[in-house]
Amino acid sequence: MTSLSKIVLIPGDGIGPEITAAVQHILAAAGAQIDWVPCKAGLAALEDCGEVLPEATIDAVQQHKVALKGPCTTPVGEGFSSVNVRLRKEFNLYAAVRPVRNLAGVDARYQDVDLIIVRENTEGLYSGVENEITPGVVMSMKVATQTACERISQWAFRYATQRQRKKITVFHKANIMKMTDGLFLRSAATCHQRDYPNIEYETAIIDAGCMRLVQDPTQFDILLLENLYGDVVSDLCAGLVGGLGVVPGANYGDDGAIFEAVHGSAPDIAGRNVANPLALLMSAVMMLNYLADKDDDEVHRTTGERIREAYDVALLDGCKTRDLGGDLGTAEFAEAVIERL
Ligand code: ATP
Repeated sequence: MTSLSKIVLIPGDGIGPEITAAVQHILAAAGAQIDWVPCKAGLAALEDCGEVLPEATIDAVQQHKVALKGPCTTPVGEGFSSVNVRLRKEFNLYAAVRPVRNLAGVDARYQDVDLIIVRENTEGLYSGVENEITPGVVMSMKVATQTACERISQWAFRYATQRQRKKITVFHKANIMKMTDGLFLRSAATCHQRDYPNIEYETAIIDAGCMRLVQDPTQFDILLLENLYGDVVSDLCAGLVGGLGVVPGANYGDDGAIFEAVHGSAPDIAGRNVANPLALLMSAVMMLNYLADKDDDEVHRTTGERIREAYDVALLDGCKTRDLGGDLGTAEFAEAVIERL
């Protein structure tokens, strides 16, 4: 008999609590063998215990190693630093993976898109080193270390091999940022030549790469990017296949993972039962597959497959939230998936 996996659940801010509740509901109905450990982070935690990332949440993730997380709001241009970024750094979750593919029944600008974004998740301009040199002059430091560049390259090529993917394309701006992006690029090239010569490898300067993406995204297989480029290109790619409501994500480290959708907390639609829970649900399916691999437990994988089939059928039946052109609320979409399990 399968034992329950203890998973930290962080609902987050904005639409986070609604979409997390919907996903929990679907997983329970599918019989997922999960014992949730609810924890707070973000504005909810700030109101409750005076800090955005409480020690209790850090301890829980440390102990249980795996979390499903809703988005946490980050103030723009002032205030506390991003909780999302702090969690990734705290647990050294250096590889962010965002699969971008068409879903049957979801209108999109392109068809046959099936690409995976692998984003370095711990450094670059997200190092958070910003200074005021003198009033009116500020700077932000882009950090690249050989360790992190080599680590993400190895991870991406290994992932490509495991998933029978054919090609890795690195987006960079090493013509301008010769040292930082240069190191990133050299690390990827060395890893390719030395360890994975059978995987096709190409590079693109990011501006030209973005143009190619919007001309024909089907020409890409795995995109490997440093932190900020990965962030921006993730949303761009979401737009190619139907929007932020359909792109899931995972942050992997060597000893744990946090699963979260690409989108943010969408405060403009929070609390109105209109948010699409699908991206978080897809992230939860990625989590079940991760647990299946980690614990060698096929029950998690079967549960994930059932959920995936159910939401595929729901979408084909026209059950969609507003962002995808439908009229279902968050909770009603969850019910539609549950009916098809
Ligand atoms: P944050 O500050 O947390 O990044 P944001 O609103 O600036 O939040 P996103 O949450 O990524 O950024 O979303 C941008 C817009 O996309 C939102 O305003 C919302 O209208 C839409 N959106 C994002 N996620 C969803 C979703 N799951 N369902 C429906 N619409 C969404």
